[in-house]
Amino acid sequence: MPLLKTAGIVLKSRKWGEADRIVTFFTLKYGKIRGVARGARRMKSRFGSALEPFVHCDLDLYEKHGDSLYRISQADIRKSFYTLRDSLETISAAARLANLAGAITADGDAVPRIFHALLEGFHAVGESSDPSHSAALYEVEILRFAGYLPHLDRCTGCRSLQSGGAWFFSPRWGGTLCTPCARREPIPCPVVSPACLAFFRQALKMDPALLPRLKPGPSIRQELREVIELYVECVAGRRLPRRDGLLAAEATARYRSSRVSVAQGSSHRV
Ligand SMILES: [Zn+2]
Repeated sequence: MPLLKTAGIVLKSRKWGEADRIVTFFTLKYGKIRGVARGARRMKSRFGSALEPFVHCDLDLYEKHGDSLYRISQADIRKSFYTLRDSLETISAAARLANLAGAITADGDAVPRIFHALLEGFHAVGESSDPSHSAALYEVEILRFAGYLPHLDRCTGCRSLQSGGAWFFSPRWGGTLCTPCARREPIPCPVVSPACLAFFRQALKMDPALLPRLKPGPSIRQELREVIELYVECVAGRRLPRRDGLLAAEATARYRSSRVSVAQGSSHRV
């Protein structure tokens, strides 16, 4: 079994057996993979907190012939993103990004640009005054690199540049629809206000690193978030968790237990 080395981001992690964990990573070289970390739940595990959700780490892995589960022999933290696990709002926002990256990529398909968008998204969420808005913008970046960039320059149904009324957003078409096309659409499409559409177009043209500088008003943020959530759910093929998702629930449970530990003076964070 050759040793494989790659950078990875923890998407989710669950208990396995008596002392192990099964961890899903989005890795730079091998895309989404799952691995087993033997003894990860023991008190003095060599993995420490490297297998917590959202951690960016350097991994040493072994691939066992005929088994889709890798063996994780080492995980060294590059950046723990522990502040993302400090509030339910940031846990929820970061979990949406992690879930989306996991949902729209196939196992073993390396997409380095999604890997970097996920990292940039975590940074943006951690520093944002509106984490769910920042997450929505980076969800679009992840969609872009998976080939699902929304098309907003014309009607995606009839190609018209005129809406003949309001513009709508079709999650199914992945773009704007004119009023006549929206009326024929079997699935209801939300109206997109001119201000929201202008902001969305601007965001798509920008360098992702500059996205955190955009500061739209509350109504545009709300409208944009709803449109992006609908689109993400359509592309991912299922409703992604909001506040009560599996990953968010697990991270939330750890958030609570870590607060208890802090109160008891026994918390250790990297
Ligand atoms: Zn049309």
